[in-house]
Amino acid sequence: MSVNTAFRIAVFPGDGIGREVMTPTIEILRLLQQRIGGFELRFQEEQAGAAHYVRTGTALPDEAMARAGQADAILLGAMGMPDIRYPDGREIAPQLDMREQFELFAGVRPVRTQPGAPNPLADPRAQALDFVLIRESTEGLFAGRGHTRYDGPADRPTAAHDTMTMTRKGSERLFEFAFRLAARRRERGHPGEVTCVDKANVIGGFYFFRQVFDEVAARHPGLGAGHMYVDACALNMVRRPWEFDVLVTENMFGDILSDLGAGLMGGMGMAPSADIGERHAVFQPCHGSAPDIVGRGLANPTATFLSAAMMLDWLGDQHGVPDCGRAGLVLDRAVACAYADGSLKPAELGGTAGTAEVTKAVMDAISSGRAEVAA
Ligand code: ATP
Repeated sequence: MSVNTAFRIAVFPGDGIGREVMTPTIEILRLLQQRIGGFELRFQEEQAGAAHYVRTGTALPDEAMARAGQADAILLGAMGMPDIRYPDGREIAPQLDMREQFELFAGVRPVRTQPGAPNPLADPRAQALDFVLIRESTEGLFAGRGHTRYDGPADRPTAAHDTMTMTRKGSERLFEFAFRLAARRRERGHPGEVTCVDKANVIGGFYFFRQVFDEVAARHPGLGAGHMYVDACALNMVRRPWEFDVLVTENMFGDILSDLGAGLMGGMGMAPSADIGERHAVFQPCHGSAPDIVGRGLANPTATFLSAAMMLDWLGDQHGVPDCGRAGLVLDRAVACAYADGSLKPAELGGTAGTAEVTKAVMDAISSGRAEVAA
């Protein structure tokens, strides 16, 4: 059976600094493809986002969504602008439409600090954090979005009720994903331990969530499994985050804890992410379009580089193409090399390096062979 090694990548640069970080990311991906070989990336640029909405009246054209659905992976910059809204006041966020349309149930938010880069925690063990938070992204408290029920008069309600939904199917696929990720991480020297983060002592839905977690954990006896209440987790993410491996949690808790994770990395420009479903996946930095720094060359592209590395890893794993996975590792290592000696300090982290300097440091690490990973 022949293996597909040519991957179609739908690229959505989007708005604001999304466009500024996407250009160097594509340049780096082309360099990796050329140096490592064994796989090919075919980029197809798509237009969507707030600026596109202003120009055309549509935030995400149907044809672009259809092509994204046919692509092997989707790479996104940032979308939305605080001042540009739909008539009902909602922000323009086509990435949320993609999450729904493609059932991207696993929001993967790695928390990795780069030794050498400025870091908010003083403890030396926090200089090389490496754990992953997985946020359920199709149900939980967000499933009630748009269905708030009010009591009392419409012009001055006396109460508002929202619902949280946990399904067996949604929870099982999430936990299976978490254990598979933990198994892959263990191959790379991590403990292979999944922690379910919930509030099972107070809310029935979380008690159910935890029961399903225990059932799935029993199918993976070779991996560690534990529980933690969300409040304790928030404390421990600051107090001793080096003890975590894989954390898995509900949508809203994950939304909040992943920003705490980005804070541990020093800033939004350092935090990568992936939204992964059964067949589709979107890779994008955690940050937004950052209108306050747009056009000044100050956007930190590190988060987008690391998201692109996650894309290469995912494509290699999905399609059985080790060279593609290796390219992801090389990109990861190139970022680590760029920061290692402490001289590269992005403006966002209190230094002076802008997009061009960070890009050059990462490209040099790839071109010089310093980031090489054995085949
Ligand atoms: P959204 O709601 O669209 O996710 P947000 O309100 O969280 O966006 P961001 O656009 O992520 O806001 O920006 C938050 C702050 O972080 C801003 O001050 C912005 O300049 C800064 N910031 C975000 N991303 C980067 C980056 N890549 N490089 C430098 N600074 C950044």
